[in-house]
Amino acid sequence: MKETIKIAIDGPAGAGKSTVAKILAQKLEYIYIDTGAMYRALTYKIIQLNLDFNDTASLIICANNTSITLDNSLGVANQLVYCDGKDVTELIRTPAVNKLVSVVAQISEIRTIMVKIQRQLGLTNNIIMDGRDIGTVVLPEAKYKFFLTAALEERAKRRQKELLDKGYNEQYKAVMNDLFNRDLLDTTRETAPLKIPEDAIIIDTSSLTLTEVVEKILATVMEGEKDAL
Ligand code: C5P
Repeated sequence: MKETIKIAIDGPAGAGKSTVAKILAQKLEYIYIDTGAMYRALTYKIIQLNLDFNDTASLIICANNTSITLDNSLGVANQLVYCDGKDVTELIRTPAVNKLVSVVAQISEIRTIMVKIQRQLGLTNNIIMDGRDIGTVVLPEAKYKFFLTAALEERAKRRQKELLDKGYNEQYKAVMNDLFNRDLLDTTRETAPLKIPEDAIIIDTSSLTLTEVVEKILATVMEGEKDAL
């Protein structure tokens, strides 16, 4: 089987990972996998079922009985997320899901389920995958690894704008607190915590434009693939 090219993008919430990854996927014609959307979809379902977030056993049962798929048929920019056949693309971006997703993502049995699906997707396609543990756990063999970060204030500003555009009138302070708490849970959990992969290129996006970030990553990949392209 032909070796596929894998690009891993990790980093904290609001660092611009998914926006950058989507543009890169379009330019390179790779498949884009938004792993955060998978944890979000499961969290949405758990909220809908009114399950107790402290009852880890029932959350694991729920995860084992959930089918999550990403559909790129409308193009990468319009990736659709399905949970048990239902389109949840917009429903997983609410403040309620933002608040609880990191609690679900802490559970190691749930991570095992997600990682298995994510790895399979990388076997047959050239992919760009973004998340928290891609370069460290999901695709440690990825040829290209990037860690995107930005100051908390800047990330909160961006996230607040995104929420406002979707009609959620969240206060800046509340958005910042949410990001802070999520980062804390994501970096301190026992299984696959968010950390910089040893061989990753770190990009601080605080004062860079989207185009500049994309160009930086693209230049690295083009250089690495110059013989293959
Ligand atoms: O990327 P996004 O902000 O949508 O991710 C939502 C949450 O899902 C993260 O805060 C984290 O708790 C969890 N996540 C994870 N591992 C990944 C992707 C996301 O734990 N690979």
